Amino acid sequence: MGSKVIVIGLDGATFGVIDPLIERGYLPNMKYFRREGASQVLHSTVPAVTGPAWMAFATGKKPGRTGIIDFRNLKDPGRYKLEPISSADFAENGSLWDYVGLEGGRVCVFNYPMLSPAYEINGFMTAGVGAVINSDITFPAGLKGELEKIMGGNYTGSVPYIEDIYLENPGLFIKDLNRLLDKNIKAINYLSGRYDWDLFLSVVSGSDFLLHHMWDTWKEYVSGGFDEKIGRAADFIDIWVRIDRFIGQMRRDHPEAGMFIVSDHGFQGIKDVFYIDGSNARDSW
Ligand SMILES: [Zn+2]
Repeated sequence: MGSKVIVIGLDGATFGVIDPLIERGYLPNMKYFRREGASQVLHSTVPAVTGPAWMAFATGKKPGRTGIIDFRNLKDPGRYKLEPISSADFAENGSLWDYVGLEGGRVCVFNYPMLSPAYEINGFMTAGVGAVINSDITFPAGLKGELEKIMGGNYTGSVPYIEDIYLENPGLFIKDLNRLLDKNIKAINYLSGRYDWDLFLSVVSGSDFLLHHMWDTWKEYVSGGFDEKIGRAADFIDIWVRIDRFIGQMRRDHPEAGMFIVSDHGFQGIKDVFYIDGSNARDSW
């Protein structure tokens, strides 16, 4: 294989948040990539949500072709019934890691959204957000124990930001999000240092959880309503600073690799949601 490639997915990351934080001096590593690399706002999928967008990144196919319009899959276009996406959808549509593997490249796929259960590739894979608990979380299976040792606990890919417990206690949300980030970063450092790979592909989902949970905080902060040194704005910025440090560390640890930092969609506030089939918005998420 030729040169090594690292892809870091930052779920929900948008220049609308990153650039103002760079301007305020917070994200030196992202600033480096923004200045020295090539960057551009790309169109997301329609609809611009996590499921179809990461599926499109993996397969190069739009939702109209894969049938995946949300976290679930419209298997039968004649009915409203949606089925959970699984790794079978990625394999059937042909994903980047499958093709690289077929060409003899060693691949690591870490925490890719909805990729569950993990399946056999030329390298290793861990299931991402939306993973079915108790399914095969890693390929090879033995990697699970190794990672749990490194992560200091169970493999967990999600902080359900919309749960009452987090809405009522934002401090707990930040604590759990930081813990998830710790685990992710430890695992990625371990995997990328311990194993041989040509393509290392990992997705950080915490940025998406943070923006979902704290979009109002962010808007108030950028309009000057919050002191950035304390409270919620400081918590918000701190998560981005940690992600930025992680990116910088990957760059320093793997100077031989080309790096891509990608996102699946941007963010925007919403006032209300309605579903034409009458389903409850919360249940649908
Ligand atoms: Zn997303």
